[in-house]
Amino acid sequence: MHIALDEWKKTPSQVRRYGNYINGAMATSIGGSSIERKSPATDEVVAVWQKGTREDVAQAVDVAVEAFNDGRWSNLTAAERAEVLLKVSGKILENLEALALIEVQETGKTLEQARGEIQFASDMWSYAAGSARALHGDSHTNVGSEKLALVLREPVGPVALITPWNYPLVVLCQKLPYALGAGCTVVVKPSEFTSGTTLELAKILEEAGLPKGVFNIVTGYGDPVGQALAEHTAIRLISFTGSTATGQKIVQASSSNMKKVVLELGGKNPTIVFEDANIEAAIDGAIRGFVWNSGAECCSGSRLYVQRSILESFTRQLVEKLQAVKVGDPLDPTTKMGSINNEPQFNKIRSYIQQGRETATLAFGGNVRSDLPGLFIEPTVFTNVSHDSVIAREEIFGPVAVVIPFDDMQEAIKLANDTQYGLASSVWTSNLNTSLTMSRSIRSGIVWVNTFLDIPTEIPLGGIQQSGFGRENGRFAIEEFTTTKTVVIQNPATTDRFV
Ligand code: NDP
Repeated sequence: MHIALDEWKKTPSQVRRYGNYINGAMATSIGGSSIERKSPATDEVVAVWQKGTREDVAQAVDVAVEAFNDGRWSNLTAAERAEVLLKVSGKILENLEALALIEVQETGKTLEQARGEIQFASDMWSYAAGSARALHGDSHTNVGSEKLALVLREPVGPVALITPWNYPLVVLCQKLPYALGAGCTVVVKPSEFTSGTTLELAKILEEAGLPKGVFNIVTGYGDPVGQALAEHTAIRLISFTGSTATGQKIVQASSSNMKKVVLELGGKNPTIVFEDANIEAAIDGAIRGFVWNSGAECCSGSRLYVQRSILESFTRQLVEKLQAVKVGDPLDPTTKMGSINNEPQFNKIRSYIQQGRETATLAFGGNVRSDLPGLFIEPTVFTNVSHDSVIAREEIFGPVAVVIPFDDMQEAIKLANDTQYGLASSVWTSNLNTSLTMSRSIRSGIVWVNTFLDIPTEIPLGGIQQSGFGRENGRFAIEEFTTTKTVVIQNPATTDRFV
């Protein structure tokens, strides 16, 4: 069964309706209430999903526990699991246009960007299929001639995935294929704003042959749905992407049964431009850094440090280049920035811009685009910013950057590291020594040099400090969803008697 794209295209205002997805079937919430999602770009209702309850969570977790315990998935060979993951990868591509349009409707991001995200999502399933087959334990053959020690790598158990609204399908696919590849069963809670592609993926997983009960979805609000998952004592791991504040709540709730936690949280990421950089590339990278996805990007380069010798010309060229960033209709191929995802976020960005107006110099933008039907804000740049100010320290998660000068490499390192976060950073320079020293000195999960938001599926992603812990993608991703068991075999039985 394919997503009815043609039908949807003919009637673009048709509302998509979903149940929770439990034990292979769409189900109405026990609470009987639902949530309407309006597109942030057009203000029209585009989808309705369930307002899940604690009872829905209990039901979904019971199903995931049973599916794990009877081995219908975890007892398959890695090759058999990989076959399903590869089919999912292909089916995501077959449904690329439909999935991309749903993302556009629910997030307000541009169609071109959404298409790229669906391709990336598909690729993660294919990579995870390889990871599943490569996953293995270890043996110790050097612990004595009559002794053999084995390290078994086993799926951690039923897991919960809680995902945000900025990259609905991509973030899910940074977690789900690896969880399934490891042999876990899953309950997902997508963002209350953007649950559509997660729910559509359920159909794709069914078609690919995933056994019923292995993948379940409960939609609804963070509290109760996410909170109940984080507290549930049968869930053995929770993987969360979102704000640091919610991450803290999840860590607290996870103490109910000491479940493993993987957190991908926020950032206030530095982009550092040295005077010897390729300035044209650096300006383009800097703009991409805070405008991409309307700034709702955990790796957003929202702190822009520029060497003082080029500060004036860099800022002038940055502002000139920003004039070319077309804001508006996400379906228009010339649009570079769509809408803000949701009203609370829109209001939050406006409040930060207001604080910027009061404490710094507005160099570009700053206005709401009230001529457009949805939640649109201009890309915004502030200069003359104090490093201690709110706009220089807090994650805005909108298209807002601060420009701050530095004199030399030591000062750049000090400023870059003066943050509670540690997710991503980028350095622009043509000097090899500067590249290496900066890469080794900046405290963040990833450092890009002369490139930005460059994320091949093979590379691990994740933060340090208050940006979280654990890694997604790359070879470590699947390991997060496993645990090791050590087996020591003595043959013949030990002669070393205790009494
Ligand atoms: P949240 O961290 O609140 O939301 C992320 C996910 O967690 C959503 O599915 C949310 O549900 C859920 N959630 C909320 N409360 C709980 C809880 N108590 N227990 C378990 N799950 C919960 O982010 P917001 O959407 O509120 O955005 C606020 C800020 O977070 C942004 O301005 C941005 O700074 C940051 N953020 C960072 C992201 C990243 O990629 N690192 C992604 C999104 C946000 P619900 O949909 O009901 O809110």
